[in-house]
Amino acid sequence: MDMEPTTIVIIGAGQAGAWAARTLRDEGFDGRLLLIGDEPHPPYERPPLSKAVLAGEAAPESLHLLDAAALAALSIEWQPDTQVVRLDRTDRRVMLADGGAIRYDKLILCTGGRARELDVPGASLPGVHTLRTIDDAQRLGSVLRRDARVAVVGGGWIGLEVAATARKRGAVVTVIETMGRLCERSVPEALSAHLQALHVAQGVEVLLGAAVASFAPGAAGGLDVLLSDGRAIGCDAAVVGIGLVPNDELARAAGLDCEGGVLVDAQCRTSDPDIFAAGDVAVARNSWAGRRLRLESWQNAQEQGIAAARSALGREVHYDPLPWFWSDQHDTNLQIYGVPLPSHQVVVRGDPATGSFVFFYLEGERVMAALGGNAARDLRFARRLIEKQTRVKAQDLADPGVSLAKL
Ligand SMILES: Cc1cc2nc3c(=O)[nH]c(=O)nc-3n(C[C@H](O)[C@H](O)[C@H](O)COP(=O)(O)OP(=O)(O)OC[C@H]3O[C@@H](n4cnc5c(N)ncnc54)[C@H](O)[C@@H]3O)c2cc1C
Repeated sequence: MDMEPTTIVIIGAGQAGAWAARTLRDEGFDGRLLLIGDEPHPPYERPPLSKAVLAGEAAPESLHLLDAAALAALSIEWQPDTQVVRLDRTDRRVMLADGGAIRYDKLILCTGGRARELDVPGASLPGVHTLRTIDDAQRLGSVLRRDARVAVVGGGWIGLEVAATARKRGAVVTVIETMGRLCERSVPEALSAHLQALHVAQGVEVLLGAAVASFAPGAAGGLDVLLSDGRAIGCDAAVVGIGLVPNDELARAAGLDCEGGVLVDAQCRTSDPDIFAAGDVAVARNSWAGRRLRLESWQNAQEQGIAAARSALGREVHYDPLPWFWSDQHDTNLQIYGVPLPSHQVVVRGDPATGSFVFFYLEGERVMAALGGNAARDLRFARRLIEKQTRVKAQDLADPGVSLAKL
């Protein structure tokens, strides 16, 4: 029989941390369990921050995964507003900013990431926002009035969701993207073109190949976003959505193997057998991608959090998920299963211009990834085709008359 650890400490009270904590109790762990987070809020889900919460349609409290009462009922010692500043692996202690120290038998790192900041003059002016936390969403939401001018720096997922929500609230929105197309790092060209058309049709101005050189105070309390080609975009608020920096400093300083995040294996173990990691901070080999990946997604935060907890208890775990990500922009729900690669053959079902479509990514006769807009049902079947590695014919996938369920 496994000897169960008596104290498990989880650093980071976000989505992965909350699922890890809950799972430890679900799995029968009855030792001391601490969930330490530097935010004041109970653990919450972030996707609505750029959608319903920013739109003013959902209260921040609706995002809470476990509230204070639920945490207490599970005997989870939740320590909000508490920052861990150092790991002492020799004595197995986590050191807190207030000078305190907590001993652990097993440690789970769920420290997520923070919004990347733009390294240009003026980036810390009051009108320049990033969006990661409930507090960020409330600050930004308060300036998204009708006719407010909003400059969104970064045409990736968060930037585009903010652009769509700001338009919904009647703001005048300009998206500024350095690359030649939207979401260039994560989607193929055809989808970038579709996203651009979608936003332009909703009245969003999209500037591509445009680099921000600085921010400066503008007229009437506003802000000027100055581009490197000399253009100035006047706005009331700028939102920088240029990606995530993993919070892996604790792990790096403690000498754990890191590679753009904390390296873990399929058991969510770091290079220290008593320390596990999950969620946005963790990097693991993913067989669907054929390489190491840091998955920044709701699905991964939950499932890897669960897997890390089970692994910490010595249960058998093999975590190698088919990545899944979704985004809502204007009236379009986009979903991606798997990792589209340039080497894949692309087969299109439906027509992006009509709003409902699926791109299938094939290796020979097997579907390796699928990406679609307003096609949730087809994508559910696509997921099964990918997971089962069913052999299919490209012409059947492309023909909306052929039922995917039958395939
Ligand atoms: C605006 C927004 C929209 C999103 N939309 C989608 C979407 O549509 N679909 C999707 O799949 N995913 C989406 N995501 C991504 C998803 O929310 C994340 O992948 C998920 O939140 C990651 O969870 P996590 O627990 O790993 O990290 P987090 O939720 O970031 O939690 C980490 C916590 O650890 C705390 N912490 C860090 N360091 C320390 C320390 N030293 N001491 C104490 N505490 C610490 C942090 O403050 C934070 O509270 C979105 C994210 C954002 C920000």
